[in-house]
Amino acid sequence: MDNVEQILKSAKSKIDTANSKQELYNINSNYLGKNGELNQILKGLKNLPAQDRPKVGEVVNKCRNEIENLIRQKILMFDKIELDNKLSNEKVDITIPVKPCKTGGIHPVTIIQNDLIDFFIKKGFEVKSGLDIETDYYCFEALNIPKNHPARDAQDSFYFDDETLLRVHTSASQVRTMELQKPPIKMVSTGMVYRVDEVDATHSPIFHQFEILVVDENVTMCDLKGMLEDIAKFLLGENTEIRLRPSYFPFTQPSAEVDVTCPHCKGKGCSICKQSGFIEVLGCGMVHPNVLKNCGIDSEKYSGYAIGLGLDRFIMTKYGINNIRDLYENDINILKQVK
Ligand SMILES: [Zn+2]
Repeated sequence: MDNVEQILKSAKSKIDTANSKQELYNINSNYLGKNGELNQILKGLKNLPAQDRPKVGEVVNKCRNEIENLIRQKILMFDKIELDNKLSNEKVDITIPVKPCKTGGIHPVTIIQNDLIDFFIKKGFEVKSGLDIETDYYCFEALNIPKNHPARDAQDSFYFDDETLLRVHTSASQVRTMELQKPPIKMVSTGMVYRVDEVDATHSPIFHQFEILVVDENVTMCDLKGMLEDIAKFLLGENTEIRLRPSYFPFTQPSAEVDVTCPHCKGKGCSICKQSGFIEVLGCGMVHPNVLKNCGIDSEKYSGYAIGLGLDRFIMTKYGINNIRDLYENDINILKQVK
């Protein structure tokens, strides 16, 4: 009994002076563990007279409970101190200024593309994106581009095999539409197109087109010219004028290049427009009767016009960007100037 008394006293004083949870775990195993001091006493019970054993056992258990309780309370106390320290150290200082967060923006090509799509949807046009991988037939044959045309050369286009290639223009989706729909047809096709070109200041193997097609009865060059004026004013402002120059494309006849008032000098003449006051932005023409025939449309009854705009070149012209690579190198300082 005296031993138990001694053990309790010494355990209490060690618990009192313990400075860490680890110390408490050690005290726990020294006094209450398998080889702990209390167990040693229990092991010695068998040497005591039978009538004394329950009494000693009871005192040992009482002592064990008391030590356990004291250790548990002190561990809880350490836990609380630990938590309090953590909370006071980790408190958020709302007075620290935050770094401004930079957000990305919509790419200039997509901005112009979306603006044009809105413009044409309001005019009742359908929007088609078409297929990136097309066949020789839809890219060339149906569009009246003869076998010996340079665009059909493997050196100018990305062929997968003799019949399949990455589209060289978005016109292929116009053919697909004309095959499936009867006139009147009012559609725009837009997306990426691919040509074998070394990257330099004005060339890129990938660029973007926006094409417009109208096929109906009695469509004339007057309708085409009216539409070109609308587009030019929409893209570059109300005072923009257009100028048509005769040109040649296999899929239109007659064909024209379209110049617009230089947006930099407003037509007065500057280095960008080479003092002419005009810059070239579009190609267009009346749909070639062969193209209509290839698509099963009666070219005696119906006529149409087609307009093609290179979005990348247009953006370069409008914003005075000299290098097409600036549009694709993710230089935020350049891209954010184009709104
Ligand atoms: Zn100019």
